[in-house]
Amino acid sequence: MENKPKKPTPSIEQNTGRHQDAAERLKNFDEVALGFGLEEAVTEASRCLGCKNRPCETACPVNVKIPQFVDLVYREDIGAAASKIFETSLFPAICGRVCPQETYCEFACVLKDKFGPVSIGRLERFTADYARKNGLITPPPCAPDTGFKVACVGSGPSSLAVAAELRKLGHAVTVFEALHEFGGVLSYGIPTFRLPREVVRFEVEMLRKMGVRLLKNVLIGKSVLIDELKKDFDVVYIGSGAGLPSPLNSPGEDLVGVYSSNEFLTRVNLMQAYKFPVTDTPYYIGGKVVVVGGGNTAMDSARCAKRLGPDNVTLLYRRTRAEMPARGEEVENAMEEGIKFEFLTAPVLLEGDEKGRLKRVKCVRMELGEPDASGRRRAVPKKGTEFYIEADSLVVAIGQSPNPVIQQTTAGLNVSKTGAIIIDEATRATSLAGVYAGGDVVRGGATALLAMKDGKAAARAIHEKLLQKGK
Ligand code: FAD
Repeated sequence: MENKPKKPTPSIEQNTGRHQDAAERLKNFDEVALGFGLEEAVTEASRCLGCKNRPCETACPVNVKIPQFVDLVYREDIGAAASKIFETSLFPAICGRVCPQETYCEFACVLKDKFGPVSIGRLERFTADYARKNGLITPPPCAPDTGFKVACVGSGPSSLAVAAELRKLGHAVTVFEALHEFGGVLSYGIPTFRLPREVVRFEVEMLRKMGVRLLKNVLIGKSVLIDELKKDFDVVYIGSGAGLPSPLNSPGEDLVGVYSSNEFLTRVNLMQAYKFPVTDTPYYIGGKVVVVGGGNTAMDSARCAKRLGPDNVTLLYRRTRAEMPARGEEVENAMEEGIKFEFLTAPVLLEGDEKGRLKRVKCVRMELGEPDASGRRRAVPKKGTEFYIEADSLVVAIGQSPNPVIQQTTAGLNVSKTGAIIIDEATRATSLAGVYAGGDVVRGGATALLAMKDGKAAARAIHEKLLQKGK
């Protein structure tokens, strides 16, 4: 099919993909978005104009060669399309699913306003899945060994990107992960109905095939200190993420039935509590659940909760839908699944029964005032609007801050007031010689793609530094 002539057909209606039926999917944790078959992918790819100035590619944080891979999909050369994506990103099945394309590549697509953008994310996912299932993926070649050794702390998207880039350049890379599963939030936070585990495992496994050493159950900063790593490695990259939950700071937060989103999602996703007692981790949720927050974490918590069987899942968000940071597609999915949204509403008090179990949540209606430091309009409580919602459990999903262990045990590492590791933007280096950092531990909670972008930038800086140093 390589010579199939390209005739762009932008006016064909955009295909945003099929989904599992809402009533059906509440009975399982299987993927909601079903993805394209080959024919659908080729048709969607045929819509691409192949713009010379490639606005989609420029808008992509990791600069995936979008028009080129989409053209190869159109020509039905899916192995070559996968290799084209691999030139800049080794994680297309992950990114095709969780990257907020609507704010990056698809937002920049010149077809957006007139016909709807090319469904670039769906095509990326299709390419990766098809290539994986048909054995078309071969790990990229790695340069001869340089003799330099790099340690990556954490195995989330930022460390994985560093590991991939530096291994390709011939450096010996070891990844240290505290948990028993690699992938960071991709494995312990994002539910399988958005990102199946076999997808994450396959893309992580490819690093192993490239020669990256992957070690789990090692908590750096406790079992091995950064200073100790520095003795064994030329460079250390810290990609330890932002997994410290922000509390509500409302009275009653210690009642039985109140979870942080981290605990709740880790139980459900990583420990597969939804299969209890086949798995070892139980959960208590009851028939009425309240989730507080408006980001992806809140949406994932509410949708996981709904799949555990309660009649009633209510999401409280203090601003309006327009200000919600969650991906639009996930908000729509949550609404379709029957999650009740209470906008402009915040909890003020959690009340329990005589046994210390959550019973009801006192809420207040909010209104939007002047913009705050983040540029979003401040949510202000409206006097006299308090009301109660009955609740057996409540999940707090209002933000995370950087994991603190390394910051607490590493002398000389400069850290901000919020616990984020401070780096020099130009060199990507921390205040400690030979120690770099990126992703959520630097940014606070952000996105998987920005974490990968940071990883790639750090890898370039580390490589240059190592070359200067010489062996
Ligand atoms: P992480 O993914 O947090 O990985 C850090 C890893 O380091 C973890 O595995 C952790 O166990 C390990 N670690 C921590 N401390 C140590 C230590 N001391 N020693 C060893 N290992 C350590 N982004 C999107 O783009 N799209 C989405 O749809 C999306 N949905 C999300 C849903 C949820 C529920 C959450 C919580 C986040 C979501 N995000 C999403 C954000 C995105 O997942 C993160 O921005 C991204 O994973 C950050 O990558 P990271 O590599 O910096 O850190």
